[in-house]
Amino acid sequence: MSTIRGRFAPSPTGRMHLGNAFASLLCWLAARSRRGEVVFRVEDIDPQRSRTEYVDLLLQDLEWLGLDWDEGPDKGGSCGPYVQSRRLERYEAVLNTLQERRLVYPCWCTRRELQEAARNGPQPARRNAGPAYPGFCRDLSDEERRARMAGGRTPVLRLLFPERDYEFTDLNLGHVLLSGAEIYGDFSLRRSDGVFAYQLAVVVDDVDMHITQVVRGADILDSTPRQMRLLELLGKPLPEYAHVPLLVDGGGKKLSKTHASLELAALRGAGVRPENIVGYLLWLAGLQQAPRPARAGDFVDNFDFGPVPLQSIVIADNVADILAGMGR
Ligand code: GLU
Repeated sequence: MSTIRGRFAPSPTGRMHLGNAFASLLCWLAARSRRGEVVFRVEDIDPQRSRTEYVDLLLQDLEWLGLDWDEGPDKGGSCGPYVQSRRLERYEAVLNTLQERRLVYPCWCTRRELQEAARNGPQPARRNAGPAYPGFCRDLSDEERRARMAGGRTPVLRLLFPERDYEFTDLNLGHVLLSGAEIYGDFSLRRSDGVFAYQLAVVVDDVDMHITQVVRGADILDSTPRQMRLLELLGKPLPEYAHVPLLVDGGGKKLSKTHASLELAALRGAGVRPENIVGYLLWLAGLQQAPRPARAGDFVDNFDFGPVPLQSIVIADNVADILAGMGR
């Protein structure tokens, strides 16, 4: 049997909070419970949002939680570099092959044109997928393209995305069917400012790093068909997917940078021990009966996605106090 290879793929756009920790814990358990390997990859493809100083802090936060990895920017490995901003040549090469196969076309639509089309067109059935690209630049003639090129504005490069069903078995959600009718449209592989799109980078990296298992937040589920399509075009097998529930606040909002008190660094500063966080997250995941302090390593042998909830999990307002008081 081939080795399972999972990955931590954080974007260094902020510090790690309870929500990231929850997804990372399940990612680690899913791989380690099957004697798999874990790769740490830094997803800093968007230079406007990423900050190098967060990289070390993310590594430290995961280590503090007791989650380890086998390859990464700090450890090296045979599939590096493990930092997206150092892999641009790979994205360029793959993009070129797709362009040569005429699967990609330039798009000069302005943000205003797209906003207007989104207002007047069908509303996206899936929130995170965004409004579908209406295809204005899809069928431009070579002559029209040349004229626009001459205009000097750099186009977005879009991949043709057939409207059809995308189906897979998710380790957590079970059978998933995302239909073409849920409106995706041709999506960008490279922005007009030259930045490669997350969809392209993530797929190239997963292929190059021999990733066989992708465990991540359910907010990314809407990207999965796009990534499946790219893998299909590259002739690569699909990894196993597990989309895990998001942790949300009482108002239903995904935990994020705005919940600063739920950052691991803040909790650590308030005296919370990592076992309390891990134990609480294991309880949220349905993997232990009560929120008792625990170590991830103790759950490796009996891990299973069975009890993990399918829907977002609402976090109590006073969770920081609960975590501080656990095990006392
Ligand atoms: N970099 C993404 C994030 O931090 C995760 C992407 C993925 O797991 O595919 O949300």
